Amino acid sequence: MIVFDGNSPDPLSRKNNSETVLKARAVSRGFAIGRVVCLHGQKRQFYRINLKNSEIENELVRFRVAVQLAKSQLKNINAQKSEVTSENKTSIFDAHLLILEDKSLLSKIENTIKDGKINSEWAVKLAVDDYLTAYKTIADGHLRERYIDVEDVLDRLQAALVAGEQKSIVHLGKKSIIVAKDLKPSTLIELTDSNPRAIITETGGWTSHTFILARELNLPAVTGLKGILRRVQTGDEVIVDGYNGKVILHPKKETSQKFKIEAAQFQEINTEKIEKIKPKLATLDGREITIRANVDLPAGYIKAKRYGARGIGLHRSEFLFNRYKGFPSEDEQIKAYKKAAKSVGEDGICIRTFDINVEQLAEEGEGREQNSALGLRGIRLGLSQTKQFNIQLRALLRASAENKIDIVLPMISDVSEILLTKSILEKEKLTLKKQKIKFGNPRVGAMIEVPATIFIIEEIAQEVDFLSLGTNDLVQYLLAVDRDNESVADWFRTLHPAVLHSIKRIIDVAEASKTPLIICGEMAGSPVYAAILIGLGANELSMNPNSILRVRKTISAIAFEEAREITKQLLKCKTSDAVEHLVSELFIKNWSHLFSPDILPVIKK
Ligand code: PEP
Ligand code: MG
Repeated sequence: MIVFDGNSPDPLSRKNNSETVLKARAVSRGFAIGRVVCLHGQKRQFYRINLKNSEIENELVRFRVAVQLAKSQLKNINAQKSEVTSENKTSIFDAHLLILEDKSLLSKIENTIKDGKINSEWAVKLAVDDYLTAYKTIADGHLRERYIDVEDVLDRLQAALVAGEQKSIVHLGKKSIIVAKDLKPSTLIELTDSNPRAIITETGGWTSHTFILARELNLPAVTGLKGILRRVQTGDEVIVDGYNGKVILHPKKETSQKFKIEAAQFQEINTEKIEKIKPKLATLDGREITIRANVDLPAGYIKAKRYGARGIGLHRSEFLFNRYKGFPSEDEQIKAYKKAAKSVGEDGICIRTFDINVEQLAEEGEGREQNSALGLRGIRLGLSQTKQFNIQLRALLRASAENKIDIVLPMISDVSEILLTKSILEKEKLTLKKQKIKFGNPRVGAMIEVPATIFIIEEIAQEVDFLSLGTNDLVQYLLAVDRDNESVADWFRTLHPAVLHSIKRIIDVAEASKTPLIICGEMAGSPVYAAILIGLGANELSMNPNSILRVRKTISAIAFEEAREITKQLLKCKTSDAVEHLVSELFIKNWSHLFSPDILPVIKK
């Protein structure tokens, strides 16, 4: 077991330690105080792990294996044909190979592992930092360039370490606060067993998967802090305020004490005391609303059920995808789907096929797409790499033999994608029948999240058993605004007139064609937006379990007719500002007992 004690700052400390308050964007509620754990690396993220004496020998072997792997990769690349003249290429790769054979560099890293009792990734990082410090002061440009080569080679070594079979056992210290440029959902899942206290990142938006997960985990998170990794180091004390979007670096003793008292006194809803709530829910005037849960992590449904959820409305199966091992096998999938379905029982679970992009499949530095949100992802990846897609569909068919499972297809933009998937399912059913293997007949639904589907929604409704509206991507694609890019967060306008009209059309067509519609984007989990969705005619919302109580409280306290009147007026607005303005005005006028001004849209003067 590896323990990060959080008390040993990095040797490269050259930072200012006075108390500093930073303004950030809050993306997951909660307060936390703890010690920074810096995450480095792009695609494969790494962090400092303190080793036990008994683990050091293994770590050294792991490091040597990675060096060999990086060397053989370099030799392979050098042997490949490319545009670069072979003379230049050979000289670059020779130089890189020399670095990997540099005994003084390698033994320096090994000594850091041994003496510092730290993981290889961290020791390699320290070596790069040392080079950076030394080369910065060198006037000779030619020599300075060598730093780029060293950095390049050590980057390759990092990738080889993370890609290798052997992993260090992760155990962050108590009260760790993860600080990263951006945090991958897979890294967060890997770190959850160590119970981190909060997340601070440079980039990401409210609907980024990492923050969706953070909210599921009740983990406070803030984002938008450009250059944060240059301001902190592993071990620094920090306070995170995930309500107001605030970070306090190096808090003074008095600040920490004051913060601890305030955090202890603050209780949003005392969820621990809540007895099991009955699922039945209706507005004041009797319109029945079904609340389901978006559950991505294995134990997630227990809480959702206690809060009165009727089944899982969205299970993102891509969280089964392991960043080291890739796709799970058919058996692993069957086991996971059965387990998730059993936890829900008769209310059923809606499992989405893998919504991953091609980059997530590729090795470090390979398979980059200019714009992965518009690239080979979701159903497109499934239909172009049919082997894995068939395995998943087969696993879902088998898991549904005795369990209530629905299948939902991500990123649908054309009816033909649904037809193709249905034909694969039929073929798999035939094969399973021949093999005398039990299977079920899951309902098949389509995610409505690509704007094109709004115009062909009638045709889609004819081909599916249900529709699932993903507002996160719908807003992203409708407004051409990257949901993961914090710099354009102000353009991610959930209440844009085009968004409201699109949702209205989808709801109307679903109702007219009697196709069940679940709204499962993050919009459904906000009391303000939920009231608007109800007014637009929605009657099934699926959300993060931690949002259920707030949304239930709102729904049971408003009348459908009242909400409908409000949304009729909203639909007449010409701009997002006008909609937001009207929302604030009408919600305060009609429902001031439910909505305080601080949770309503902020009106820009
Ligand atoms: C959505 O796009 O709204 C959605 C529910 O799916 P995801 O957030 O996983 O893209
Ligand atoms: Mg989506």
